[in-house]
Parts: sequence; structure tokens; C-alpha cells
Amino acid sequence: MREFKKSSKLDNVLYDVRGPVVEEADRMIARGIEVLKLNIGNPAPFGFHAPEEVISDMADNLRESEGYSNSKGVWAARKAIMQYAQNLNIPNLSMDDIYTGNGASELINLAMSALLDDGDEILIPAPDYPLWTACATLAGGKVVHYICDEQSEWNPDLDDMEKKINDRTKAIVIINPNNPTGAVYPRDLLERIVEIARRHQLIIFSDEIYDRLLMDGYQHTSIASLAPDLFCVTFSGLSKSHMIAGFRIGWMVLSGNKDMARDYIEGIKMLSSMRLCSNVPAQSIVQTALGGTQSVKGYVNETGRVTRQRDFIYKRINEIPGLSVVKPKAAFYCFPKIDVEKFNIHDDMQFAYDLLKKEHVLLVQGTGFNWIAPDHFRIVYLPRRSVLGEACDKIEDFLSTYQQV
Ligand code: PLP
Repeated sequence: MREFKKSSKLDNVLYDVRGPVVEEADRMIARGIEVLKLNIGNPAPFGFHAPEEVISDMADNLRESEGYSNSKGVWAARKAIMQYAQNLNIPNLSMDDIYTGNGASELINLAMSALLDDGDEILIPAPDYPLWTACATLAGGKVVHYICDEQSEWNPDLDDMEKKINDRTKAIVIINPNNPTGAVYPRDLLERIVEIARRHQLIIFSDEIYDRLLMDGYQHTSIASLAPDLFCVTFSGLSKSHMIAGFRIGWMVLSGNKDMARDYIEGIKMLSSMRLCSNVPAQSIVQTALGGTQSVKGYVNETGRVTRQRDFIYKRINEIPGLSVVKPKAAFYCFPKIDVEKFNIHDDMQFAYDLLKKEHVLLVQGTGFNWIAPDHFRIVYLPRRSVLGEACDKIEDFLSTYQQV
């Protein structure tokens, strides 16, 4: 019998967020076992819903959304995105620089494919949102991870970043606000990252999909606003800010010194045209979502549901012997540290698997985010407080006797 194997291009691609633990959870759920899922940043199943106007505007526009659009997107959506970027002080923009995508995900893949030749290096944070590492690797790039430092509120370690740059390095990726740590980078740190990029003439890719989900009055600075002389690409979308992850709408904004990237931009245009266009019904609500008062800000203000759940998880995790966590400032994730010596943990996927089997709680192990040691895991704190409380009680019970063999 002929056997079909996956492309060898996928052989080195790291993407552990799905994988044996999630597959086992799916089997358990199929057998009727209730699993507490703290593993995926998908707001809708946890009772977070899009603003009504977003839904009704999409319905009203369906008839006009039947055909392909311009490959970068419809004019009104791109204008709204451009104005949003202008309000972030992103410099040197024209309508040509705005691309819509089926989520930021599609554009991350496109941006990596258009740039990287075999062996080109790109700096990506550890921990990261693992799609970045996967797409850069699939494109033939060599991913070099720079460390984000838990002792310094998970900010990037700039010495580590700079010492990993060499002649083959083409770009730095930052994820700000950050998944999985919930960090928000202060302006002076971003200025120092720009200085590094400037010294080595690197492209800056900034994933800012959580920029409207800030808590405690933190301010977000878009790094592209600090780098008018460099070529920057800023990614965002409505999946998280408007709780419509399933609608698939994101964007990418090219800014700053576009002369540096003339040929690269040609490559981006080619790939953008090859996928014809992004989902047109979802483009039709970008103006509604960005232009008016429609937002989910209420979830992240002082008394908002996301903030209260964040406060709960932060306190409760720090109460569990052997665990500690830095307080997240944005998004809906935290990245607790495990005292691996106490529990003899040497394999964090095994830890996640054992927890799932014994307590029916599903988490993603830290190495799934390209973290460097088996001593962290990520919690998505979107579920209601009662569910988070139950999950934390189970984690505490589990750890009270756990010793990895
Ligand atoms: N970037 C980060 C940091 C994310 O956490 C996610 C989704 O979780 C994405 C990008 C993908 O977003 P989209 O739904 O727009 O594809």
C-alpha cells in the first residue's frame, strides 16, 4: 500500500499546543468525562460575546459580501485600520500598507513566508505564541529565541537579544501585550529594542493583538511609533478585542522606512494576491468595531469580568505550595512557575498529561510555548471564577502528592 507522509518541511516545525495531551482530553470528552479546559484563548465558549452592533452590521452586509474583495481588503475596513494605526502614531502610512487577513495568524504566516530564505535567522521571544516559531521554521528560517525574564515582569532580556544577533539575522519579533505571560512592555524598553534593531538594521515585527485588553490603567505603546526610520510590521485583529475569534479577521500594517523593504513588500503583495482575499463578511464589521464606542472594554476595567478572574487566579495560584506567578497586566493568560525540584518534574508535557488523567484539568505545558525549561505552564483564565476555583483546588490536590517518575 502506498503511504502518504507529511511534507518534510514540517519535520522541524515545533507546534506542541495541540499534541498528545489535547488528544487525550478529546478522547476523555468523547467518553463523557467532563474536562476543565484552561488551555485555549477562545472567548465565546466561556460566555464572552461580541457587541450586538457588530453582529447586526455583519448580518446587514452579508448580501454585499458575496464576492472576492481587493486582495488587501475592502476600502472601508482598511481605512478604519489605517486610522486606528494613525491614532497609535504609527508613521508613514498609506492605504497600500494595510492588509486584512483571516485572523492575524494568516498574515503572520504570509509575512514569514515572504521574508525568510533557508537559514535566515529571526529573533522570537521565549516563551512565545508558538505560531511565530512554527511559521518562521516552515518558511525555512532559523528561529533564535531570546529570553523574556520572569524576574523582570517577563520583559525581554535585551542583552540576551543583542548577543544572539549575527549577519544572518533579519528581524526581531515582539509580542506585546504578551501571550502567554500577560506582560506589557514599557515605552523605554521598547525604545531600547528599537535601538538594537537600528544598530543591526533589522525589521521589527510586533504582534499587538491584545492591545485593547489592558488592565490596571497600563498604557500600550506601539513599537512602530518609535521607529520611523526602520521597517516595521504591526499585527492586530478583532478576535480578542471584540471576542469574535471565529469570524477570522485580523490585519497587518507596514510602516516606517519602506524603501528598505521594497522587494520584500513585492513578495508580501504576491502572497496576498495568491490567497485572493480575506473573509469579506468579517471585513464588513471592522469599521463598526474600530470606529465607534463598540468594544469589550467593560471586561477589563477595574470591576470587569476578565480583571476579576485575573485577580482571582493570581492570588489562588500563589497560594498553592510549589507554584508562583507574576501578575498579568493584559490579555487573559498567566504563566505560572513550578518548583520542579519539589515535584521532581523533568518533563512538563508529562506533568500536563498526569494532571489531565488524574484531575481532568487541561493546561498547556510551558515548553509548548518554546519555553526553555520544563518548569512552567499556561493558564487561560477566561472560564468563570467558579470553574477557575475548582480547577485550582484540583491542581493543589494533585500537587500535594505528585512526584514525577
Ligand atoms: N497572536 C497572538 C499573540 C495570539 O495569542 C493569537 C491567538 O491566540 C493570535 C496572534 C492569532 O489571532 P487571530 O485569531 O487573529 O488569528
